[in-house]
Amino acid sequence: MTSRATDATRRALSAAAEHLPMGDTQDFLDADRGLIARREDRQIRAADGRVVWDLDAYSFLDGPVPDTANPSLWRQGQLVSKDGLFEVVPGIYQVRGFDLSTMSLIETDTGVIVIDPLISKETAAAAFALYQEHRGPRAVVAMIYTHSHIDHFGGVKGVISQDDADSGRVPVIAPEGFMEHAIVENIFAGTAMTRRAGYMYGAAVEKGPAGQIGAGLGQTTSTGEATLIVPTIDITTTGQELTIDGVRIVFQVTPGTEAPAEMNFYFPDFHALCAAENASHTLHNILTLRGAVVRDSHAWAHYLTETIDLWGDDLDVVFASHHWPTWDRPRAVEYLAMQRDMYLYLHDQTLRLINQGYVGAEIAEILQMPPALEAAWHTHGYYGSVSHNVKAVYQRYLGWYEGNPARLWPHPPVEAATRYVAAMGGLDAAVTVAQRAYDDGDYRWAGQVLDHILFADATHAAARALQADTFEQLGFGAENGTWRSSFLAGAQELRHGQFGTPVSASADLLRALTVAQVFDSIAIRIDGPRAWDQHIVISWVITDDDVTFVTELRNGALNHRTVDAPLPGTTTFTLSRPTLIGLITATVDLAAAIDQGTVTVAGNPGDLGLLVSLLAPVDPDFAIVTP
Ligand SMILES: [Zn+2]
Repeated sequence: MTSRATDATRRALSAAAEHLPMGDTQDFLDADRGLIARREDRQIRAADGRVVWDLDAYSFLDGPVPDTANPSLWRQGQLVSKDGLFEVVPGIYQVRGFDLSTMSLIETDTGVIVIDPLISKETAAAAFALYQEHRGPRAVVAMIYTHSHIDHFGGVKGVISQDDADSGRVPVIAPEGFMEHAIVENIFAGTAMTRRAGYMYGAAVEKGPAGQIGAGLGQTTSTGEATLIVPTIDITTTGQELTIDGVRIVFQVTPGTEAPAEMNFYFPDFHALCAAENASHTLHNILTLRGAVVRDSHAWAHYLTETIDLWGDDLDVVFASHHWPTWDRPRAVEYLAMQRDMYLYLHDQTLRLINQGYVGAEIAEILQMPPALEAAWHTHGYYGSVSHNVKAVYQRYLGWYEGNPARLWPHPPVEAATRYVAAMGGLDAAVTVAQRAYDDGDYRWAGQVLDHILFADATHAAARALQADTFEQLGFGAENGTWRSSFLAGAQELRHGQFGTPVSASADLLRALTVAQVFDSIAIRIDGPRAWDQHIVISWVITDDDVTFVTELRNGALNHRTVDAPLPGTTTFTLSRPTLIGLITATVDLAAAIDQGTVTVAGNPGDLGLLVSLLAPVDPDFAIVTP
């Protein structure tokens, strides 16, 4: 185990540092501007005493840049880890540094509008308490979610209650499509995304100069309770206006940008724009490393052009749900325009090169951002990267296949690895190849060779150790926070075993499933081969939704549809949607529910038992850097 930078890494980092615009220190002025107060108690805890956020976790970043970190990412971490309550302009405030995301607060005639209540109810409650401590006990008059990602709604119950929303006291405002996307993104591939997020954010990697130093977008994710209150007002069109307790808001819907359901909005009385997550102090992700449906960089750029057209002439400040604001009209507009140029250039130039026959991995090496963008800090790839974003553009338009039939039907990883290692002369000879690459500072090649060795023999001790060292050097060199964390997470698992993934299905998110989503989530757990000889048809009368579904399992696929009445001759379950969710999440026992009368059955209750017996377990801790 090294945990030190090699000479090659040090040389690479010094060379990279020469191209950084270190003379431009405006971001530090902006990130400190308007500081009102910091929280005295530096740890935020759950009810059981567990620390879910530590405001001092990154205080080591105050020190000089070590040779184990890219100076650009180190600088970003210094900025992002600044915490406190800040005045954006009189009447608009932000609590920053309390989670991956930022909470914004707009004061109204009698109360306050809260925008994006962080990930966890504990961090959100602490952020709101800091605000109230210094701005008075103003009541929340509206809640706004800018988009469908959990770091923008998960802490809502730390600020308002379900009853506040149900009673109509606090409208909850979100872009159209919010619920569908907030849920779907977490269900279909949720298990794999959670495991991969453990790499991307490096939650289990120790924080420190040779460890996790931030995710670029925010430092890391909090680990409290994620909650959800379903929105009560949908924003459906650009130009839609609301006046909340005397404060006017004009909305711009931006679907298919950073999130499938997202919106920017403008406060005419403050000349202030909330840019959601469409403009931030990083090149964002066209495809996040945890995995997602690939985003549309073309639409993203288009909507930023529209934003400038709508409000650029009357803009004193632009703030967002990550990072610090940008003030003054020329700077704010140029910031939005540069962000736009960045996504558009990536999109257009990738397609130009695609049409010259280049594939993603090649374009990632060729494509250079314009010097003017390189010279601005906020266009650097701290969260997204040029490298993985151009591959995402390729993926959006052309998919996984590069068109070369030599790559149409390759052996899968283990089978290919066994053959590569044999061709290199066996395991030990292959390790020698990798060691030579490592010694030469060619960590990318060392990593590729070692990947083959570990997929041929995951127990090879020398290969495991060398791959961990290799990942570490790659991590130390990375400007991107999610790359660094991914490499260091891989190194940690090779050295110390898998760190495990907390199972964190939020009860509120589960409760929000629609009936169709419940059946979809059952369907993707059917063990196909075990199920393909079964034929099970069940009718479901959902009492609270006043709808009847039929599910049919045939050929290993569970389809569902709505019907006017239960199908004659099928077993029929009559129950509420929450009870149905309870049954599939095993929080409700079927026999007990039948006894209590919360589920009634006509026909054979064993049909459900048979269906459940065909569900395959998920593996939340699958291996990543080994087979
Ligand atoms: Zn976010």
